Amino acid sequence: MEIADNSPLWRYTTMKVGGDAEHFCQPAGAQELVDVLDLCRKQRKPWHILGGGSNTLISSAGVPGTVIRMTQMTNVQTLEEDLVEAEAGTRLPHIAKHAASLGLSGLEFAVGIPGTIGGAVVMNAGAHGSCMSEIVESVTVFDIETWQIRVLSNKELSFEYRNSAIDPQKQIVLSAKLRMKKDSAEKIKAQTQHNEDYRWRTQPIGTPNLGSTFKNPLPDKSAGFLLDQSGAKEMQEGQAAVSALHANFVVNLGGATSQNIVGLLHRMQNLVQEKHALHLHPEWKTLGLFTPEEHTVWK
Ligand SMILES: Cc1cc2nc3c(=O)[nH]c(=O)nc-3n(C[C@H](O)[C@H](O)[C@H](O)COP(=O)(O)OP(=O)(O)OC[C@H]3O[C@@H](n4cnc5c(N)ncnc54)[C@H](O)[C@@H]3O)c2cc1C
Repeated sequence: MEIADNSPLWRYTTMKVGGDAEHFCQPAGAQELVDVLDLCRKQRKPWHILGGGSNTLISSAGVPGTVIRMTQMTNVQTLEEDLVEAEAGTRLPHIAKHAASLGLSGLEFAVGIPGTIGGAVVMNAGAHGSCMSEIVESVTVFDIETWQIRVLSNKELSFEYRNSAIDPQKQIVLSAKLRMKKDSAEKIKAQTQHNEDYRWRTQPIGTPNLGSTFKNPLPDKSAGFLLDQSGAKEMQEGQAAVSALHANFVVNLGGATSQNIVGLLHRMQNLVQEKHALHLHPEWKTLGLFTPEEHTVWK
């Protein structure tokens, strides 16, 4: 496996923003992953796990250490009639369409989520009233503390709204077993298509973005609604702008920097705080060098 130096990361995120990784690699399997982790451990250098980069804001100032991108690990196996195991780098739209073709129901919600299985487990990704916690039976991880492969049950993953017990610095998802339900392939395909069409109508799919920016602060108050009501649509900072289609989406109009984006997030947060007295917390993760002032957005 090649380990590249000073590798530009913008191309590995759906926002198309990010400076260079000091070192960068893409393991093809668990052994290559463990080998690179061992190297980092021996050199006492930091490492970071990246999936599809569809929920991670990467600093334009770059990332010290080694960025390990999981998207080459994409094996999918059918273990039982209704049980599929997918490696961490498998893309959600791919596995959703695969399940639909097998007449397996449960992943219809995931067709428009451009992340990987690993990122989706960590984030408990969800949409259309469903989420990963409903179908994950167990997850195989590489555990850094014990340096062993472990299997974690659904219960051990302690899934919450857009969160799970997995800390990517402590456990790396290698694969997940997904328990689904047998149903009519036609019905599943129709629902999958319906969900995909909905995305195209309501989200800025063609412009680089990272999905929903902020978590919903209350179950009955969506961040998008609050931002829209507050007049956030089309706010702009450099080349980063609030989407005109969906107020909880920030888009890169071309050449935006992470500084532009964080500046915009600050203003969006302040706006909702002023108008609705509610604090919005970002859904996105960060990777790389951010100033303490920039970090306050995630507090
Ligand atoms: C257009 C668009 C629409 C979206 N719609 C939705 C939606 O409807 N619902 C939703 O929930 N999200 C949505 N998202 C956000 C995003 O796609 C999900 O959160 C997705 O699950 C992130 O997966 P990823 O592989 O891209 O994660 P990344 O952004 O690469 O990583 C996210 C976190 O997971 C960690 N991680 C990734 N892989 C592993 C692994 N193998 N082991 C351990 N840690 C890992 C990373 O270190 C990071 O902390 C959308 C994004 C976009 C761009």
